Amino acid sequence: MKCHYCPTTSDLRPYGPRGSMVCFSCAMASPERRRETEKNFGVQLDACGEFAVAGGELGPYPLEHAAPDVKAALAAMSSPAPAGDVKGEER
Ligand SMILES: [Zn+2]
Repeated sequence: MKCHYCPTTSDLRPYGPRGSMVCFSCAMASPERRRETEKNFGVQLDACGEFAVAGGELGPYPLEHAAPDVKAALAAMSSPAPAGDVKGEER
């Protein structure tokens, strides 16, 4: 796959026109493209729901689809477990 605008094939993101893949320099090449890129990113982020993972070549995706190690890392960063946590249950 290559950039919607140029021959670049690496580090593409799906924020071009109608979700096409674009490289960062093309995505930021003009104020119009930059606006479209930010708009497309926002739409995809909104579609992910409350929690999303961003920063990869896939674009943002719902946290529930994140790899287990990503979820574990996020859980480790989050604040202590909420009150009313599960108490030991004996049989
Ligand atoms: Zn490009």
